[in-house]
Amino acid sequence: MSTKFVYSFDEGNKDMKSLLGGKGANLAEMTNIGLPVPQGFTITTEACNDYYENDLKIKQEILDQIDQKLEQLEKEQGKKLGSDVNPLLVSVRSGAVFSMPGMMDTILNLGLNDTSVNGLIEATGNERFSYDSYRRFIQMFSDVAMEIPKYKFESVLDNAKEAKGYEVDTDLTTEDLKEIVVKFKEIYKKEIGEDFPQEPKKQLMLAIEAVFRSWNNPRAIVYRRLNDIPNDLGTAVNIQSMVFGNMGDTSGTGVAFTRNPATGENKLFGEYLINAQGEDVVAGIRTPNDINTLQEDMPEIFEEFLNISESLEKHYRDMQDIEFTIEKGNLYILQTRSGKRTAKAAINVVVDLVNNGMITKEEAIMRIEPEQLDQLLHPTFNPAALKEVKVLAKGLPASPGAATGKVYFHADDVVAHAKAGEKTLLVRQETSPEDIEGMVSSEGILTARGGMTSHAAVVARGMGKCCVAGCGELNVDERAREIRVGDLVIKEGDYLSIDGSTGSVYLGSVEMTSAEVGGSFSVFMGWVDEIRDMLVRTNADNPRDAKKAIEFGAEGIGLCRTEHMFFEEERIPAVREMIVADNVEDREKALEKLLPFQRGDFHGIFEAMDGKPCNIRLLDPPLHEFLPHEDEAIEELAKKMNIRPSDLKKRVSDLDEFNPMLGHRGCRLAVTYPEICVMQARAIAQGAILANKEGIKVIPEIMVPLVGTVNELKLLRPIIEDTMNEEFEKAGVEIPYTVGTMIEIPRACITADEIAEVADFFSFGTNDLTQMGFGYSRDDAGKFLGEYVEKGILEKDPFQVLDQKGIGKFVEMAVKLGRQTNESLKLGICGEHGGEPSSVEFCYNQGLNYVSCSPFRVPIARLAAAQARIKKESGSVHRDK
Ligand code: ADP
Ligand code: MG
Ligand code: MG
Repeated sequence: MSTKFVYSFDEGNKDMKSLLGGKGANLAEMTNIGLPVPQGFTITTEACNDYYENDLKIKQEILDQIDQKLEQLEKEQGKKLGSDVNPLLVSVRSGAVFSMPGMMDTILNLGLNDTSVNGLIEATGNERFSYDSYRRFIQMFSDVAMEIPKYKFESVLDNAKEAKGYEVDTDLTTEDLKEIVVKFKEIYKKEIGEDFPQEPKKQLMLAIEAVFRSWNNPRAIVYRRLNDIPNDLGTAVNIQSMVFGNMGDTSGTGVAFTRNPATGENKLFGEYLINAQGEDVVAGIRTPNDINTLQEDMPEIFEEFLNISESLEKHYRDMQDIEFTIEKGNLYILQTRSGKRTAKAAINVVVDLVNNGMITKEEAIMRIEPEQLDQLLHPTFNPAALKEVKVLAKGLPASPGAATGKVYFHADDVVAHAKAGEKTLLVRQETSPEDIEGMVSSEGILTARGGMTSHAAVVARGMGKCCVAGCGELNVDERAREIRVGDLVIKEGDYLSIDGSTGSVYLGSVEMTSAEVGGSFSVFMGWVDEIRDMLVRTNADNPRDAKKAIEFGAEGIGLCRTEHMFFEEERIPAVREMIVADNVEDREKALEKLLPFQRGDFHGIFEAMDGKPCNIRLLDPPLHEFLPHEDEAIEELAKKMNIRPSDLKKRVSDLDEFNPMLGHRGCRLAVTYPEICVMQARAIAQGAILANKEGIKVIPEIMVPLVGTVNELKLLRPIIEDTMNEEFEKAGVEIPYTVGTMIEIPRACITADEIAEVADFFSFGTNDLTQMGFGYSRDDAGKFLGEYVEKGILEKDPFQVLDQKGIGKFVEMAVKLGRQTNESLKLGICGEHGGEPSSVEFCYNQGLNYVSCSPFRVPIARLAAAQARIKKESGSVHRDK
């Protein structure tokens, strides 16, 4: 049987999007439910693909089917394309499966030529309208199908208006328009080398081919790559008989949403113009009216439109974006689709639809993009205010949200000015752990260097603070306390504004809209939690972050990085003493000083978590990270520490490593300096005892990082246990705790069965696992990863989206081997991937007990986990717990 390449509107339906495109499928659906849709037919996406397979030719079979459908349409309408009596005119509309920019614009009034224009005049009794339609058609056809530059036509129009002293297009008379048509045809001939096609079938075929070609124009290709749309979907073409909104005061055209797309409010939202065609509404030539004033202009039409809009929403069970035209008092619907909306509107709409019984909770959950929630949790710029300011530069969107404030270049200055009540931004070349206090006090962080996993980016995300990183266009001079961009100099105390969701940096201050987590958000997240069956924890290093994460629904701490506590001003001297010590005795003395700080931290965290499990990781980074490296700073520190600068310099150079990421770090530190491990275990135990005495339930989990062989854990586990048990015995309390390991070295995955015999839990450290699995240094990969993604060598940056095919295999293997020897092994993930929706789904399908992510990503991970369950259960596979 031969393939059907062309469908009349009454032969399709809304579920045929992949064949008929979004626009075509919905035109068919609306036809079938009896709405007033101008009739026509759709050429399928398969025909488009066939065109490409056939060396850019439409094959005869398809041509025949088009002819046949055109004849049928002419018969039904009682009109003929190109006829000199009452001619049929059509629009040619592209329509891919997903609506995308770059596709061909619509051509209206196709079928007009020197003869049929007379037919139109006769049929409508309106000569001016007819010539206006003709000149619009030549203009659109030339621009859209033949790619003749627009301005050539516009300048003819402008000249004509200027010569006559007219202000607007509608001042042009019939005679003017006739002349313009002649001039337009001349332009066409000059540009293309042929006369403007008079034969309507030729016009039609050229337009159809242009739509097919537009599928592969550079803009469309880029858009598809950015949005993961496959290249082989193809576009459909819709041929639809014209209706005219430009036939006088009882005609018009407009666009409306069934609800407010910014807020979700259940009230028609949109615009229309009387006596106008097609794109006039959005073209900005005339100011359109609010859709609700149509009630006064045309009460009956308004009533009819309102009914249609309600029934479309019911039918599609979603907010709709509808395009319509009124021709001499008759309403026609030209398009409907799900309306684009803000995150706030999206939540309000689905909650309302569930409450009205129109969709299920599961459907509501599946309709919200997890990443969209970010918008709700962070303040944003007022869009109107943004238009008033200049974009200064663009960096990486490192941590979402928006911030506006006076710039300061040193953490101390930020702290001081913030204390005085100023809103500040911390601007640095790049941040280091010493800047933490300044980062906390600032509204946002801007750096000139560093990537998406730079210190500034990771820490800001953890804090939920807005950050633009790696903004290389800015010349940040910390000493001179100024930023130079070209000739422009921004001095300390000047205002800048940054958008961490887009990476934009604006000159001056911009008005903000604060984050709103209102009623429907909690209702929605309640449904998410009803359905979700994987836990979501948070990565938090201090009580403040832990509390924030609990507000966002975290069910425990999945990673507490103890070293982050080391950097605070009061502690860093003791930390450095410990590092500089060249014998155990001195080191223990320094550790004694640190103990009370760590105890206090853990106590605070246990209090904040109030009965929820806390996974605490022992010291992980190489020690030289805590020491200065420049001569000047070393000398200063030596003076403070009361030691010889040369001794300190020697220690610094001793600690220097060629490959710090693969060097003396993680559990290797505890193996060589067990006293550090002892101090930390003791501090955890003592913090737990303090909380326990306050009646708080504590569930400590001690995590040993960077284990590559079971023997490391065999050595360290007893040290941890002996220390903690001793503390508990002394205090006369019994606090159950577990000891486990981070799985982040490929060898650990391969020998996970051995390791699981000595570990109570595994937590996948997928940042390091990706680094070591790929052999990409996290700190250097920024130089080439972008190009890898661009050239298609990698689909995504594997540090952002877990590489399921490769690194995921390691996870899979470790889960399987680990559970083989330890049935009760608890499994989690604490890499950056723990808050990335596709990675969360992967973790769910692997049977992990929890994912852990930064506090502000907790709601995203909750939603992603609920979606993973719904997806899995709607498929045939069952999850074995
Ligand atoms: P887009 O995909 O850019 O929205 P459309 O194909 O929807 O493009 O066309 C844009 C506008 O052109 C429509 O909103 C409508 O106003 C007008 N239009 C398209 N087809 C017709 C038609 N058959 N009759 C009247 N106006 C039409
Ligand atoms: Mg449209
Ligand atoms: Mg690690």
